[in-house]
Amino acid sequence: MPATERKLILIVIDGLTPSMLEDTLERGAAPSLRLLAEHGRYRRAISTFPSLTPVCLSALATGAHPDVHEIPHLVWYHRGERRLVEYGSSFGAVRAAGTRQSLIDTIYGLNSSHLGRGAVTVYEALEDAGLTAAAINITCYRGRHAHRPTVPFLTRPAHGPSRFFFYNLFESDVTGAPLSVRNRPRGTIDAYAAAVGRWLVTRDGFDFLVFYLSDYDYASHAQGPDAAHAALARCDDAVGTLIEAAGGEDEFLERYAVLLCSDHGQTPVQEVARLQDVFPDAIVTASNRAGMIYTADDPAVLARRLDGNPAVDVVLWRDGDRALARRGGAEGGVEQLDHPDGAARATAALVNPNAGELIVSAAPGWEFADLAGRHHSGGGSHGSLTAGDSEVPMLAVGLDVLPASIIEVMPAVLDHFGVPAPPYARMPAKA
Ligand SMILES: [Zn+2]
Repeated sequence: MPATERKLILIVIDGLTPSMLEDTLERGAAPSLRLLAEHGRYRRAISTFPSLTPVCLSALATGAHPDVHEIPHLVWYHRGERRLVEYGSSFGAVRAAGTRQSLIDTIYGLNSSHLGRGAVTVYEALEDAGLTAAAINITCYRGRHAHRPTVPFLTRPAHGPSRFFFYNLFESDVTGAPLSVRNRPRGTIDAYAAAVGRWLVTRDGFDFLVFYLSDYDYASHAQGPDAAHAALARCDDAVGTLIEAAGGEDEFLERYAVLLCSDHGQTPVQEVARLQDVFPDAIVTASNRAGMIYTADDPAVLARRLDGNPAVDVVLWRDGDRALARRGGAEGGVEQLDHPDGAARATAALVNPNAGELIVSAAPGWEFADLAGRHHSGGGSHGSLTAGDSEVPMLAVGLDVLPASIIEVMPAVLDHFGVPAPPYARMPAKA
């Protein structure tokens, strides 16, 4: 079968670092991932900024940084509604922001109102072209099809792709998959994803599938980066379930092209800082390794308050059309940043209309406490511009492109199906 006629599966393993995948493959563990690596091409690619899941998954689904997709952080201040939006930094932070509101923001708001109107999702683009898209558990799911909730405490439909599965809350088809949230530390969410994936592959029920595995990030936050071997073994099993459902390795590779990546990396954290204490006169939204300050004061002046603060690597703000950075007590344009894709990622984060006036990227080893004071000290975290938080593994099987950034994934998918990418998208280089 010519490569272009193959269906395509995008596998996203949340929080998987390139080094963890590379070491695991070298050791010969993870047989299903090894099969893909043996038949594909691999590189390290770059995430977006802040390198936090809602921002990154939106970048994967829309092919854009936050200047276009407009999701700024895990937690942010909604200027229009004059309130905080909290997508789930921690259980404590969700309680502090209002549990019901946080659930509604995460389940509905992100897609129905926060995601930029100028952004096109991969599901919208493919299904408008007559293809069938499927999404399992990914929090950026905006599509054209209304799905009624399966649980009584939700009343409104969500609009996703035609095949849509979201943590048992929305299920376009009855698959018999087990309840997903029974025991997260033991991988029940990914077990749900695997069961739905098996059902879809068995029926050949899509042209494009996003197979999103979230449990690895959860384990890596607790155990630290490059230590969650059991969680990665479960991801490998989940991918193995798809291969098995296709009838074996040869049949799977014959039928499907695959892109496998993570959304962001992770780095170890030992120290916690409270940005709220530095800016008691402003609205601070902080979580993991990025923070934002919403203020009417001069951001250039406020940025100086963080001079000498060991928790801070870079402070960013805008002056008219210029994106500025303060680092080590010196101010300059973002062009001077030596982080991966530093200038482009910093600028796109600042141009987002939902971002704070100041954006703070944490120094190595540091995390910013969230609304409830929670953190992952002693474990792993992410969110900053640094390479460890920002690098992701990128593996392409049966495609003639290999994305260098997570924003090149969506145009790579469209290119595979011959569907034109939106004008803002950056095409990956042809191999
Ligand atoms: Zn995370």
